[in-house]
Amino acid sequence: MPRAPDASALAALKAAAGQGGWLDSDADVEPYRSDFRRLYRGATPLVLQPADTEGVARVLALCRRERIAVVPCGGNTSYCGGATPDESGAQVVLSLRRLNRVRHVDPADYSMTVESGVTLAAAQAAASAHDRLFPLSLGSEGTAQIGGNLSTNAGGTAVLRYGMMRDLVLGLEVVLADGSVLHGLKSLRKDNTGYDVKSLFIGAEGTLGVITAATLKLFPAAKDSATALVGVATPQAALDLLAHLRAAAGDTLSTFEIMPRFAVELTVRLVAGVADPLGMDAAWYLLVELTSPNPEAGLAAVLAESLGAAVERGLVADALIAASLAQAQAMWKLRESVPEAQRRYGASLKHDVSVPISALPRLIEAGCALVERLVPEGQVIGYGHLGDGNLHFNVSQRPGTDAAAFLARGPALEEAVFDLVEGLGGSISAEHGIGRLKAGELARRADPVELAVMRSIKAALDPDGILNPGKVLAAPR
Ligand SMILES: Cc1cc2nc3c(=O)[nH]c(=O)nc-3n(C[C@H](O)[C@H](O)[C@H](O)COP(=O)(O)OP(=O)(O)OC[C@H]3O[C@@H](n4cnc5c(N)ncnc54)[C@H](O)[C@@H]3O)c2cc1C
Repeated sequence: MPRAPDASALAALKAAAGQGGWLDSDADVEPYRSDFRRLYRGATPLVLQPADTEGVARVLALCRRERIAVVPCGGNTSYCGGATPDESGAQVVLSLRRLNRVRHVDPADYSMTVESGVTLAAAQAAASAHDRLFPLSLGSEGTAQIGGNLSTNAGGTAVLRYGMMRDLVLGLEVVLADGSVLHGLKSLRKDNTGYDVKSLFIGAEGTLGVITAATLKLFPAAKDSATALVGVATPQAALDLLAHLRAAAGDTLSTFEIMPRFAVELTVRLVAGVADPLGMDAAWYLLVELTSPNPEAGLAAVLAESLGAAVERGLVADALIAASLAQAQAMWKLRESVPEAQRRYGASLKHDVSVPISALPRLIEAGCALVERLVPEGQVIGYGHLGDGNLHFNVSQRPGTDAAAFLARGPALEEAVFDLVEGLGGSISAEHGIGRLKAGELARRADPVELAVMRSIKAALDPDGILNPGKVLAAPR
């Protein structure tokens, strides 16, 4: 069991982290005490921020020897409290912020090696500077780091075409709980040499090791694109349109996002600079994008033709294809501002869930009925990555209702939503992870054999339980 560090252990940790490698003043530590959503507020005596892999290794070796719990922290944008220390004041935070070098971009290999503290936006820019694409894209990309993206197996808006973070990794460098370094920065597409060890650390949320660098897959840069906002009457019509567009546009279809009318209205009203570029009356809005590395792909014509055919089939109520980059950017701003609009609107209950794509209409219909029955103060804002079967089934508090009463209904609603999702063959965490928020639910709902395998892996890699205790795997009762 980890224990609280004493003064000499803290001094040794500072020395291990090296010059400029630690923060302990109240003001400096403050941002690390709470999570992005302000669900948790913890305490820590020390934030370590070594500048390189060797520094991380020294820190972890010491933590292992002294049995000190460590909470790895990237951009601290986790939606599940994954990077926040607990309230004991005994856990130290290990920030990867200073491991921020792009080590190597190899356009011929379509790969690049970056350190874990490089932000996602900086990684995208590094690829772009070599006429390559790193396709992961999230609303938090300016702040979230590659190490955090890997550790949460992040998704975002291009999963339909490129997959989640796990699909974009060729190799990892990881410091294990005892301070040893796993040197796995291979750029191979094929490597069948036993167990896929790197995969263990992806989505592990800092509970099995600390990722210090990654070799990532790159793709040809997009040279042609076509973006549209499309209005449809029902989620089923949206699904039918997805199948129609996949047939017409093939792999060029890279984004297929859904927003209810209420989310669009709220975003236009509450987020500065968001205009309603559609000016039309639809129950559901879709952001659709095709991209291709071929500048002659003629994607605007492909999109216009296939949407025209969809209108004729009665799938689409109305559609606007962006006539300029600025118009396309305005459409993206609308979609990406939905979480911010919801935050400004007031208290909310959030569920990041996934189901088989075909079950999405059922999830939306049955989920709305649950909210009507269980949360009279609530308004559903179910939006997200329809092409991946991933809905952010969120509920906002209606204006003028009591916030405390609204929030008090959260646990009952969550239970019912998770039951619904499970009944549909879905997942209680599509892309945000487990963190502290869903550790109890995972313990309750996961297949017992799968959970036992997870606990065995944890015990093998972190026998003293010093790595991010309480996250992903709740302490057994
Ligand atoms: C506005 C907004 C939009 C978002 N949109 C999306 C979205 O579309 N899709 C999506 O999947 N997520 C989304 N997220 C959630 C979040 O941004 C992502 O999960 C992101 O990948 C987290 O990265 P981070 O660097 O902030 O990680 P942190 O929050 O710092 O950490 C996340 C977890 O990873 C661990 N960790 C961090 N770095 C390391 C490391 N180097 N080694 C080992 N463990 C580590 C932490 O201990 C923690 O458990 C969004 C968040 C915000 C605020």
